[in-house]
Amino acid sequence: MCGITARVGTGAAIGELLSGLRNLEYRGYDSAGVATVTPDGINVVKHQGEIDVLCDAIDQSSVRGTTGIGHTRWSTHGPPTDANAHPHTDCLGQVAVVHNGIIDNYAELKDELSAHEFTSDTDTEVIPHLLEEFLSAGYGPEEAFRRTVDQLSGSYAIAAVFEGTDTVFGTRSGSPLVLGRASDAYYLASDVPAFLEYTDEVAYLHDGDVVAMHPDGYTITDTDGNSVDRPFETIDWDPNDAGKGGFDHYMLKEIYEQPAALRQAIRGRADPLEGRVEFEELPEDAFAGIDTVHLVAMGTSYHAALYATTLLSDRGIPAHAFLSGEYGSNPPPVDDSTLVIAVTQSGETADTLSAIRSIQGTGAHTLALTNVVGSTITRECENTVYIRAGPEIGVAATKSFSSQVATLILLSERLSYDTNGGTPRESSDLLSSLAALPDDVQRILDEPTAESVAATYHDADSYFFIGRGIAHPVALEGALKFKEITYDHAEGFSAAELKHGPLALVTANTPVFAVFTGRDDTKTLHNVKEVRARDAPIIAVTADRDTKVDDYADHVLRIPDTHHDVAGILANVQLQLVSYMAADMLSRPIDKPRNLAKSVTVE
Ligand code: GLU
Repeated sequence: MCGITARVGTGAAIGELLSGLRNLEYRGYDSAGVATVTPDGINVVKHQGEIDVLCDAIDQSSVRGTTGIGHTRWSTHGPPTDANAHPHTDCLGQVAVVHNGIIDNYAELKDELSAHEFTSDTDTEVIPHLLEEFLSAGYGPEEAFRRTVDQLSGSYAIAAVFEGTDTVFGTRSGSPLVLGRASDAYYLASDVPAFLEYTDEVAYLHDGDVVAMHPDGYTITDTDGNSVDRPFETIDWDPNDAGKGGFDHYMLKEIYEQPAALRQAIRGRADPLEGRVEFEELPEDAFAGIDTVHLVAMGTSYHAALYATTLLSDRGIPAHAFLSGEYGSNPPPVDDSTLVIAVTQSGETADTLSAIRSIQGTGAHTLALTNVVGSTITRECENTVYIRAGPEIGVAATKSFSSQVATLILLSERLSYDTNGGTPRESSDLLSSLAALPDDVQRILDEPTAESVAATYHDADSYFFIGRGIAHPVALEGALKFKEITYDHAEGFSAAELKHGPLALVTANTPVFAVFTGRDDTKTLHNVKEVRARDAPIIAVTADRDTKVDDYADHVLRIPDTHHDVAGILANVQLQLVSYMAADMLSRPIDKPRNLAKSVTVE
């Protein structure tokens, strides 16, 4: 999920590898490392922590080699430690590998490689050991690389170097990898800024491409070994903005990263054919004896938690969401049949840590749902499930909400099997809708209609967001995003609550966003009519199939047809786009809204 750099050419590689890693720092990381090919073998240096720590450990003048690879790691498998940092090597130290993403079948591969000595907890380490197998079977580096890649499933970008050759091999599937060409060197990287100071000529690799680059040139072949042409383009980015990958803000970049993030959250966990959900992180009996679920969270994570309460209640599991800042000071009764789920993107949210600490020793079971491997919450809870969204830089959470909800849908399914004595529910429709979710989000992103809504209403007095069931937390999240980045007054309500007070505020200058997710839509439509009778503009967020709201709405933001449980994620993407566009039209500092911090580490 983080950064890869690789370089072949004339002159020492180390300086360019390290500057490449620095230029990828914006992607977030927890460890860094490099490997260079020298006449005496492969030289690896890697460390947990900042690139400065790595630089301090390297005497650059003595690191030889014109060929090398570098990596910034965002841990997904195993905590951020020196041993888990990349590059990883085989038993003989004849290959070194860096990898971004997740190898889904690493556990099976590791079983098959039981004769090898593994030195890390990572999924990545199966790659150098597989390469070793093929090398010892007599294959050359390129064939060994190709055969190894054939064995992998998951999402990955990989770069590898071999002892005794100045060729770097790379491939990608679902994670980015680009090739750079300068007069005296070639580069591979997960994003262009890594090498922008050396060249602006870039070729974008496609999934399945295998690139072999050496000082005199490069080849790109497809999965079958046929040569393919990936033309070079000249990049004209301002180097200061390059980290945003051509987007004006990290927030927009992260909104557009959602299809990839959701694939990572779902992949390897949901099997629509079997109707089963598995979390490799969880023991078999993780939920034995659980009959009540509490979710503790703040901000956007609280909205994901609220969403989950509807999912769990629908599955017959009593569930309550609490603001963790309230829970910690006055914890409700819990016992060993209660599961307390801490939802926190950073894993460092002080309120949520203190909520979990408040019930330690009561017998209640605890589960962390977080984005950051090895974060404090993972050490405080019995079990952890990762949302695998990748680093989120923008203060206003976007992709982490989508990935939290997608993971909570899977978790609700798993909890419902366990509380039903291990019997899968009839859930294949839901799992198929989840499998289609990344493409459905992409459809929304490919045809943005939010801009005209933002252009029409961005100078209104106040904005209201309404919905029922799972559309209620989506309305709350829509309003939170809007107020965070536009600084305009925005509030979310249950559509049911409207008549009990908030309707007094509705005027012709208060646009109302109404979220429809395919359940209780008729009731929400009644509320829309009430609002319309007060002349308020209506913006409906609703499915393709649902045209009955069109007559009452001034604008319709469409979402693809999908399972009700999943529809809220799609509706939220439309609302993210409206907030972003409105804030941009108001020239707000979108990535760093005033008074707010990304990770709230004080109560
Ligand atoms: N899954 C790998 C790990 O945990 C790679 C993570 C990354 O993309 O940085 O080491």
